[in-house]
Amino acid sequence: MAETTPPSRTGVPVGIASTTLSDDPGCWPSVLTSSMRCEIVKKGPVQIMDIEFPQNLDNPPRRFTKDSYKRTMKNGENIHRSWLVYSIHTDGVFCFPCTVFGKRERDNALTTCGYGGWKNLSYRLKKHECTKVHCDNVKKWHDLQRRLQTSTLIDQRQMELMQLEVEHWKGVIRRVIAIVSHLAERNQALRGTTSTVYDRHNGNFLAQVELLAQFDPVMNEHIRRIQCKETKVHYLSGVIQNEIIQLVGDKILQEIARRVHKAKYFSVIMDCTPDISHKEQLSVVLRIVNCETPVSIAEHFLGFVHVEDTTGKGLSEILLDQLEKHNLSISDCRGQSYDNGSNMMGHKQGVQARILELNNKALCIPCSSHTLNLVVSDAAKSSAPNNFFA
Ligand SMILES: [Zn+2]
Repeated sequence: MAETTPPSRTGVPVGIASTTLSDDPGCWPSVLTSSMRCEIVKKGPVQIMDIEFPQNLDNPPRRFTKDSYKRTMKNGENIHRSWLVYSIHTDGVFCFPCTVFGKRERDNALTTCGYGGWKNLSYRLKKHECTKVHCDNVKKWHDLQRRLQTSTLIDQRQMELMQLEVEHWKGVIRRVIAIVSHLAERNQALRGTTSTVYDRHNGNFLAQVELLAQFDPVMNEHIRRIQCKETKVHYLSGVIQNEIIQLVGDKILQEIARRVHKAKYFSVIMDCTPDISHKEQLSVVLRIVNCETPVSIAEHFLGFVHVEDTTGKGLSEILLDQLEKHNLSISDCRGQSYDNGSNMMGHKQGVQARILELNNKALCIPCSSHTLNLVVSDAAKSSAPNNFFA
C-alpha cells in the first residue's frame, strides 16, 4: 500500500536523511541495540503538543488530544504521563519505556505500531500503566537515565585514556615491525646472547630499540614501563621477532605471486646445496618480465625448501608443490635453468625432463654462471698449494 511520509514538526519528513534516531517511536527499528537505547534515553520522550492531530474515520470522528498526557486521579489530582508519546508517523501513541526496554510483542500496539483507538484510549492507558511489565520498564528507564547522567563524564575520560593506550601500543608495534624489517633487509642477525634490554650482548634488534628510545617518546615510554615492571607485555621477545619475520615474509610472497600472475609466464631457477647443519636446501627462484612500468626483467626468490629426496622425482615434486602453493600453473612455465647435476639435467629422470613431460614449452638451459663457478672453483682447488681450498 502506498503511503506518504507525514511531515515532522519541523516540516522535514520523519526518519529520512537522519544520522541519529528520530524522536518519533514509529520510526524506530523493531530491534534496538544498547547504543540506540542509550541515545533514545539521553534524548528522552518527546511529547508533541502544539499540532492539529489528525481525525480518524469514526462516527463522530475522533483524534488524539494532549489531555491524554495527563491522568486524573479520583481526588482530582492530575499526574503527568511522561511515558506517553504520540507518533506523527503512525498517528498512534507509544509507551516510551515499554518500547525501549520491553519485548515489543505484536499484540501490544503501544510498543509496536502505535495505539490509535482514541475511543478507548483512556481505559487502555489506565490499564497499561498499572501492569507490572510497565512498572518494571519505567524503573529500567529511570535507572539508565540516572546512570547516563551521572557517569557520562567518567565514561568519556575512560574512553580517552583507553584510546591513548590503543595508540601507544599501535605505535610500539609499528616501531618493532620497522626495526625487524630494517635488519632483515640487510641480512643482519637480530638476536644476541642475551635478551635483556641495555645489555651490550643483546643483539642488533634490542640495540636498535634502545637507540630509538633515546629520541622517540613512544619507545622511550615503552622501555620505561618495562624497566619499572609496569607491563609484562613488551613485544620484544624472539618469538615476536620470528612472528613478524614470518608475517612480513608471507606478505612479500603474496606480492611476488601477484607480480608473477600479472606477468603470466615465468621461468624457474633452482639449486640444491647443504646448509651449515648439512641439511639439503633447495632455493627456488622465478624469473619474469615485470609488466609494471618501467618494464623490466625480475627474479624473485620464493625461499629455501628443506629437501629429503634429492632425486629428480623428489625435486620436481617440490617445484610443483611450490607453484601450487602460490596458485601458479606449470603450463605457464617457459623456461628452466639448473646446474649440470644429473638429478636436475638428466634426460630421462632429471627435473627438466619431468617438467618437459608436463609442459614441452618449458625449455631448459643450463645455468652458465653456475657451470663457470664450478670450473673456477675446481681449478682453484687443483692449483692451490697444500690443497688450501679443500
Ligand atoms: Zn508501558
